[in-house]
Amino acid sequence: MNKVKEFNFIPKKAMVIFAHPDDAEIGTGGTIAKWCNKGTEVVYVLATTGSSGSNDPSMTSNKIVNIRSKEQDEAAKVLGVKEIIELGYKDGELESNKQLLSDLVFLIRKFKPESVFTHDPFRMSGFSHKDHRNLGITVMDSIYPYSRDHLHFPEQLNEKIKPHKAKNLFFWGCDLPNTIIDVTGYETKKIESLSKHKSQIQGLSVGSSKEKGMLKRLHNYASNHPFKYGELFRMIEARD
Ligand SMILES: [Zn+2]
Repeated sequence: MNKVKEFNFIPKKAMVIFAHPDDAEIGTGGTIAKWCNKGTEVVYVLATTGSSGSNDPSMTSNKIVNIRSKEQDEAAKVLGVKEIIELGYKDGELESNKQLLSDLVFLIRKFKPESVFTHDPFRMSGFSHKDHRNLGITVMDSIYPYSRDHLHFPEQLNEKIKPHKAKNLFFWGCDLPNTIIDVTGYETKKIESLSKHKSQIQGLSVGSSKEKGMLKRLHNYASNHPFKYGELFRMIEARD
């Protein structure tokens, strides 16, 4: 059994890179609410439009894109995230290619986050969305070595855009977490932000059974720790 360590550091800047509207709040909503409250500048990078995210046969891709973009804005506002960068890739068609790598390297060099959050691309315990896998692995590559080394994408570099070394990468949705962040006091913000994604998560409100289930999960994660609610990650630190 691997040991899960508590991570208590509050960085100045963090970036959350996610495939679809609502992924960020599911993965790390409590941590982001906490860090924003403590002064971390958090930037969201949303890779796809979420154009396939509906079970309603009368829904069109154009309509759902607009709905989900608004929902994402509202959810981010609840957590205190000030900026969302939308890359606009098509839902379900995210590839780990040079274009996506270049986009991510540029944003990491521009915003210089100490900590980056994304999907765990190596989850083996169940199905994972192709966009999640491809994005997770490209985020990992973009931190090491591409955004760090000046000979990768040298055309991006100028007075303001310099090579950047992020300190740590947090994966959510992992089989083997090694890190927990105490989100006690921010669990309600996570639920509230998720409740903004009405087109994706129905029936989530204060006191609902869905809320209770979510809180129970966060509580169970924290069962061996001296706090009530936690979010789990697999964290890797960048090499020198
Ligand atoms: Zn997703």
